[in-house]
Order: sequence, then C-alpha cells, then structure tokens
Amino acid sequence: MTKKSDDVFCESWLQARQSFVSRIQKLGGTYESIGISSKGPDQGELSIGIGTISLGPHGLTTSGNLLLHISGVHGVEGFAGSAAQLQILDELLKQKNDGLFSDLPARTIVFVHTVNAFGMSWLRRNNSNNVDLNRNAIMPGHGMPSSRAYAEIHGILMDRTFTRITWLLRLLRLLLKRGKNYVMQGLSGGQYESPDGFFLWR
Ligand SMILES: [Zn+2]
Repeated sequence: MTKKSDDVFCESWLQARQSFVSRIQKLGGTYESIGISSKGPDQGELSIGIGTISLGPHGLTTSGNLLLHISGVHGVEGFAGSAAQLQILDELLKQKNDGLFSDLPARTIVFVHTVNAFGMSWLRRNNSNNVDLNRNAIMPGHGMPSSRAYAEIHGILMDRTFTRITWLLRLLRLLLKRGKNYVMQGLSGGQYESPDGFFLWR
C-alpha cells in the first residue's frame, strides 16, 4: 500500500517531524528545535520542535492572544498528537490558500511537536530516564506525593521470577485485599522510589 503524502498519520518520529516542519514553513511560520541527548533506535538525532505561526493581519509582534499546543508528552502517544497538529496546520494552510488568513483575528499559535521525542521514536511512554513526564508536576511547597500503594504493587509487577499464573494470582490477591481503586491508583498514579518501575517521577 502506498502512503499518501498528505496523510497526517506518520510511521516514524522523523517522518512526523519532517511533515511538521514543512507545514510550518508553508505557513510562513518560524521553526526551531531543542536537541536532546538521547538517540533514536536508528541512532538518529532527536529534538523537541517548536513551530510558531501568526494569524491575522499584523504578524507576531502585535498578536493579542497566544495558544500553546503540545504533543507527545507520553512519547508514543505523539503519533496521535502529531497527527492532530498536522491536521490543524493543514486547515490553516487551506485558509491561507483561500486568502482568508489575514481576516482571522490576531493570534499567535505555538506548536510544540513531540515533547518526549525519545519515547515516540522508541514507541514508549517514558523518556530515556524512564521518567513519565505526565506524572511529574509537583506543586511548590507540596513535596513529593506518597506512592505507598505503588510500593506494594512494585514487588509483584517487577518480579521476573514469577510465572504468569503466579503473577496473576498475586495480583488477584492484592485486588481482593485492597480493592480495585487502590490498585489502579497505585499502578497509574506515579512514583518516585523505583527507577526501574512504572510511571516514575523525578
Ligand atoms: Zn498520555
């Protein structure tokens, strides 16, 4: 099956980035990237891309409102997020080609393309330090949230000596003892203590 060149769903991080940059350029926007130290599976360079475009008659300096649109905080989910950004850019391109661009109210839109480029290129949610960037918001003065429930689950999840049936039985026992909400919260709420565990915060 051949792939249409205007398809917003891309097959790799690089293809998604190239599609993003070319649309930003066609819209007359500015593009810059922030390189990250980790490499992709093919040892290629990775970066966070920032595309800025201005709508309305006056350009960047007088734009009254700013919209920030980000994709790929959860790495692999960047395939969907990038597609959303490419689709929005395609709609704006259509408006521009129809001569409607300068009629739009003054707006600046900053698209951040693939916040976690490493996760997207390696098809995983976390970054190269196993940090889940979407579980990483500590409010000033609040300290680190407790992850007691996770600690209890970690021993079960990460024990590779278990057979699948032992693993399921242990998990089932925990579910019966603590309840579904406790286990779900422990699993998905994030944690600070186990670098090799799930949903690590830093
Ligand atoms: Zn997510």
